[in-house]
Amino acid sequence: MKDPKKDNAPADRGPVFTKEMRATHTILVPDMLPVHFKLLIGVLNNYGYHLELLQNGGQAVKDRGLESVHNDTCYPALLVVGQFLDALDSGRYDPDKVALVITQTGGGCRASNYIHLLRKAMKKAYPQVPIISLNFTGLEKCEGFQITPPILLKLLYCVLYGDLLLSLYNQTRPYETEKGGAERVLDACVERLLKAFRSGSFLRYGHWCRELLKAFAALPRTGEKKPKVGIVGEIYVKYSPLANNHLEDFLLAEGCEPVLPGLLDFCLYCIVNGIVDGELYDFKNARTRLSRLGYRIILRMQKKMNRLIRRQGVFEPLHEFDELRKEADKLLNQGVKMGEGWLIPAEMGLLCRTGAENVVITQPFGCLPNHIVAKGMMRRVKECYPNANLVAVDYDPGATRVNLENRIKLMLSNIRRPKSPAEEGGAAGERAAGEKSKPEEAAGGTLPKAAAQTAPPPAEASAPEREECAEAAAGRERGQI
Ligand code: SF4
Repeated sequence: MKDPKKDNAPADRGPVFTKEMRATHTILVPDMLPVHFKLLIGVLNNYGYHLELLQNGGQAVKDRGLESVHNDTCYPALLVVGQFLDALDSGRYDPDKVALVITQTGGGCRASNYIHLLRKAMKKAYPQVPIISLNFTGLEKCEGFQITPPILLKLLYCVLYGDLLLSLYNQTRPYETEKGGAERVLDACVERLLKAFRSGSFLRYGHWCRELLKAFAALPRTGEKKPKVGIVGEIYVKYSPLANNHLEDFLLAEGCEPVLPGLLDFCLYCIVNGIVDGELYDFKNARTRLSRLGYRIILRMQKKMNRLIRRQGVFEPLHEFDELRKEADKLLNQGVKMGEGWLIPAEMGLLCRTGAENVVITQPFGCLPNHIVAKGMMRRVKECYPNANLVAVDYDPGATRVNLENRIKLMLSNIRRPKSPAEEGGAAGERAAGEKSKPEEAAGGTLPKAAAQTAPPPAEASAPEREECAEAAAGRERGQI
């Protein structure tokens, strides 16, 4: 295990980002989560850094990535390296006054090694550019760029508020009566939150959740009901519009409501993996104890957000992480944690259970672990949720946008459209007559979410399958740490 007190960076890591460079250098950030990153960058810039979110995209980024990264490598690595190089080639930045930041997850997956690919590419093209590792596991330290406890606390709030904003934005955009209204509210909310981070009032968590809910609820809505389409998959391709060809916009244009699980779930997944290791290998140490404590606190905050959403009654709450863990236990073991591991099938299952039975699984080319737990788990998910309408889409630099979108369109053609209010009246009458109460009705929005969550396994599932799902749902208490 890496010693967190020790700098584990390789000796040949190239130029180092120093404290003095904070004043002179722009730190470029690859595009992944536009909403969250606006908050994160705003917070870090308050500490004297000058970070900038890259927005360049298109074929030039892919081509530049292919020149520097082997095409067998994970697609996210290729895109991140390509985006940095394309930005530097553009002439917008002085290479002597620029640094790059990239995350290292610290897990067993190749994501921890993207930084080495980036360094190799930069050594050839821009050897003077320092590269910063953003990691929370002591993989590398950087004297000029440090995540102190106060910054870490603010980053946690950025993730929480970012998840809420993203969810409200996605639940509002398909139904806005004035085009661009949701985006305007989103930008205004981001500005208000950044001010709150500067003044310290960001700690008034309940207040800010209510304010954001109020801001989005004030927008006039059409009153339509559109089919919900969930997006799951490898974290970069799931969120990055550059990687998934602006999937949310595409779904919106196709008349659907995109549903994106929150970033906090991935953070909690990383925390819980340490705890699960302790359980599986029967050890306890300071790290597992700290992880348990952090997990409980963060989960409570996530639940508080959902309570406030339910109390307001306009929007659907986000997934709760302990529910995801319960869902995972129905499908596979929580020891499966390479890449996004059990989180992907758990998200698929919970989406199906909570009204978004249509799911696009975004998979990057070169990603073996996520193919196993995504495409490889589709059958199991369908056994538990026979109405699940799933499609796995492989993103790679050679795949044309039209081809990828056609695959998704094929899935969309199988969507069960939500019922109109008139039809709903009829369906309610049928239910009252005791005729049926199936989860697919919840998927179409005819049952309240809470009812959908407790719905029994579908009648179409075979008896052993239903028993297995019911047993898993009832018998496992693993989600309670
Ligand atoms: S999760 Fe997949 S894409 Fe990401 S580093 Fe691992 S193998 Fe590569």
